[in-house]
Amino acid sequence: LIIPSWLEFTQIIEKIFDSCRSVTEGEVASYIPQLARQSPHTWGMSICTIDGQRFSLGDSKKNFCLQSVSKAFNYAIVASEIGSHVLHQYVGHEPSGRLFNEICLDSNNMPHNPLINAGAIVVTSMIKPTHSMADRFDFMLKKYRKLAGGGHVGFDNATFLSERDTADRNYALSYYMKEYRCFPDESQVYEKGLREELDLYFQLCSLETNCDTAAVMAATLANGGICPLNTEKCLGSRPCRDILSLMYSCGMYDYSGKFAFQVGLPAKSGVSGIMIVVIPNVMGIALYSPPLDKTGNSCRGVAFCRKLIEQFNFHNYDSL
Ligand code: GLU
Repeated sequence: LIIPSWLEFTQIIEKIFDSCRSVTEGEVASYIPQLARQSPHTWGMSICTIDGQRFSLGDSKKNFCLQSVSKAFNYAIVASEIGSHVLHQYVGHEPSGRLFNEICLDSNNMPHNPLINAGAIVVTSMIKPTHSMADRFDFMLKKYRKLAGGGHVGFDNATFLSERDTADRNYALSYYMKEYRCFPDESQVYEKGLREELDLYFQLCSLETNCDTAAVMAATLANGGICPLNTEKCLGSRPCRDILSLMYSCGMYDYSGKFAFQVGLPAKSGVSGIMIVVIPNVMGIALYSPPLDKTGNSCRGVAFCRKLIEQFNFHNYDSL
């Protein structure tokens, strides 16, 4: 067993989880009604180890949208299909040091990395570019369900419609990138325009899951792309390594540097209040609490990670 004294481990996790309930700062995202309606009291956590041990607390079965956490899985899925080196002909590896939805490119006129909107939209355009929209969405949904080991991965249409209605920034960003020919030649963007590409991007942001399932998805990343529940190879080993590297440096918006310093683990957060954390070769953790701090990360989620690192030597550089 990867965690030998499971009972002792889960008892400490439960104490940490309960102590984070008293964290009451932060604001629930309000730019669309579907997010604004989320309860600030919701607090869920789930763990799945690479050998399939599982532990959940609080609202771990409550559904939410993946939002920007989808960017990590989209990257891993696309890179597993076409190769990281091909993908990175169009997207960089550097933290942008700018807001996640800022209209800016790097010195090569490429998006800085795949975890900000610019990069994620370009990655989306590489998903089966010659297929119909229905097939492209279906392809991704099947991949998500596979790496979730059969857990709940649904689609929140209301969130999708709202996202599309408040899309001015993402459209502006995408037109800017189209002008600079940031999308691959074979993408549909140049012939058909941006609408379908952005629809797919918003549809993937609107994928619905819960902590129990998101922990399995994170555990698949922790396990080199093999889902711990069904031992199926869902993602390439190299793309898994690559996305964990990017999550480590760019996964937590403009808090990524400090998070890497304090917690020392690859993680990705989304505006719904979800956070996944990966302890490579050990476990995946999913945390869900909607109130966000100024950088857009879940307040309770970040607090949990900091306390986790005080109790266990999971920080990347702890063993030195
Ligand atoms: N739907 C959001 C956007 O593209 C993603 C927000 C997020 O989770 O960062 O603007």
